[in-house]
This record gives sequence, C-alpha cells and structure tokens, in this order.
Amino acid sequence: MSKRIYNFNAGPATLPSEVLETARQEFFDYAGSGLSVMELSHRSKQYDEISEGAASLLLELMSLDDEYSVLFLGGGASTQFAMLPMNFLPENKTAAYVDTGAWAAKAAAESSRIGATEIVASSKDKSYNYIPDLSEISLPQNCAYLHLTSNNTIFGTQIHKFPDSGKIPLVCDMSSDILSRSLDFSKFDMIYAGAQKNIGPAGVTAVVIRRNFLSRAVDSIPIMLSYMTHSEKKSLYNTPPVFAIYMVRLVLQWIKDRGGLLEIEKTNVAKRERIYQLIDLHPDFYRGTARSDSRSGMNITIRLPSEGLEQQFLKEASDADMVGLKGHRSVGGIRVSLYNAMSLEGTERLADFMESFRKTC
Ligand SMILES: *Cc1c(COP(=O)(O)O)cnc(C)c1O
Repeated sequence: MSKRIYNFNAGPATLPSEVLETARQEFFDYAGSGLSVMELSHRSKQYDEISEGAASLLLELMSLDDEYSVLFLGGGASTQFAMLPMNFLPENKTAAYVDTGAWAAKAAAESSRIGATEIVASSKDKSYNYIPDLSEISLPQNCAYLHLTSNNTIFGTQIHKFPDSGKIPLVCDMSSDILSRSLDFSKFDMIYAGAQKNIGPAGVTAVVIRRNFLSRAVDSIPIMLSYMTHSEKKSLYNTPPVFAIYMVRLVLQWIKDRGGLLEIEKTNVAKRERIYQLIDLHPDFYRGTARSDSRSGMNITIRLPSEGLEQQFLKEASDADMVGLKGHRSVGGIRVSLYNAMSLEGTERLADFMESFRKTC
C-alpha cells in the first residue's frame, strides 16, 4: 500500500480507503469487461447497473421509495442554485430562502435573477455564526418553495431542527452533510448535493426529487436544464460523468456496509465531540466561531489567539501528516472537516495533536 495521510479538506475531500482500493482493483478491467469504467459506453449494460445501483442505494440509505426520483447531474451544486428557480419559480410566485452562509446567499442570488425572491431569515448580522430560529419564519404569499442549506461548510454551522413548511415545498442543499446523520428525508421535496464532500469525487451532483413536486416544473426552459428531462431519461439525456457516478456508488455501498446512517451518525457524533470538547475546555486558545447551539458536526471552525499561531498550527499539523485544515479564504482560521470518510482514529490523532500544540505554545 502506498502512503496515505489524514485529509481534513472541505471539498474535494477524503474518500474511504476501502473505496479507493476497490476502484484501483477495478480500474483496468471493470467486472471482466476488459475496459476501465472510464471507457465504458454510458449506454452499456455495465454502466446501467452502476447508475441504477447508485440511485437505488441512495434512496435505500435515505429510507425513501419510488415516490422520489434520483438524478446524477454535472455542473456542481452551483448549477442547482440556478436550475431550481428555473424549474420551480414561475412568474406569479415568490421563492423563500434562508440565508445562513455564502452558499445559501449564492443560491438566493441565482433565484433573484429568475424571479421574485425573499430572504425569510438570515444570520448575516453576526457573520453567519448561527442558525436563525426557523420555527418563527413567515413565508411570502404564493410561496414557490422554501430553500435551506443544511450545513454551512464555510461558517461551521448546521441546522439541527428543520422547520415544518406545511404545504410549501421544502428544498435543501445538503452538499456538505448529506448522509452524515439519520434524518426524516421525506420532509423534503428536493435535496441536492455536490458529491465531493460526503459521497464521492467532484464532477457529479445528486438530486433527489419528489415525483409529484417534479410534475409541477415549468417546461419553457432549456431542455438540458429541465429536471423533467433528466428524470425521464434516467440521467442519460447526455453523457453523464460516468466515473464520478461509479465512485459515488462505491461510497454509498461503503456506507451501507458500515450499517447505514444510524451507525455513520454514531461515529460522526464521537468525532465531533472529541474536537468540540477541546474547544469547550480551552476556549481562550481554541475559539470555536459557531454559536454552540448551531455547531456543525461536519466542519468545525476555530480561531487561535493569533494568525501567527494559526500558521504555525497548519505547518506543524502538515508535518505530522494532517492536511487541509486551513479555514476558507473568506474567513481564515482553522477548519476541521469531519466528513463520513474521516475515521475516528484520524480525528483522535488530530485531537491529540491539538492538545500537545496548545501545551507547547
Ligand atoms: C461546496 C458547496 C457548494 C458548491 O458546490 P459546487 O459543486 O462546487 O458547485 C454548494 N453548497 C454547499 C453547502 C457547499 O458546501
């Protein structure tokens, strides 16, 4: 085995070693086809199994059924920011957005280019360090949908209690925490996530959409940007990112083999607690930037007493084979990303490093 180091990058992020190993074994000759997955026709039987397999595993892990359609699309989660209002924001309606960070704001900005858009709650007043009380939001008249961002990758906050939107369709960008915890996914009419944080490599975005929500999409938009097209063609309208979808299927199988979301969540809680404990124990040295009731289990954002110490922290961590800990360029500091594929062992190693770094400073 070649050497692997601990990767705390926010995305593209660490992948399970077992998945990489399987991909390596199958790389040259996929399932006896004599071809690499990258060389398979997307119309082949082998690829059909990969794509259908990934879609059905995703629904299974989310405990959803055939009421939902799974799409694998290109263009990243950022293209979903635009596709969502193009499909579901007709002229006579208003879309509602909760503004909890940079990605949420970008989603709303795309929507306002398409139609009437209202920010119904925001935490911008405090540099996005908390999740606003979502039980109190009032939605506009004739509301097309309510859009949430479940985990704010850059600011280290996460929604722990989702609002009840009644009859208003609920849409959620789960790019950075999809499949990290067990949730009632049937609350949502549409969920989307770029794969590169929690379920695979960059290049593909998963969209899970309730079929009767889908049936309300407008059809006066470009064919390629219509959800209906991709649902009807089973994500084969054009050439899909075949290799990325293959990797997603391996990651989903890995999650299932580990016992599904309840088991994954248990490990994620243990990981998260290990790091937040340090923050709570030494708040003058490791200052968590997120308000404690809004803390993310996936991205933990921390400031040290000085930028000099932060630089030193990053350098010494990297010397100890722990990389990707630099905060987003817009906020600085340290960011610890603990996606599903980061092991408890890797997290403990980082925690041990943090303890000894504090003591020697
Ligand atoms: C990373 C991220 C995005 C952007 O994803 P792309 O695939 O790069 O377009 C959107 N939303 C959230 C919450 C993210 O973390």
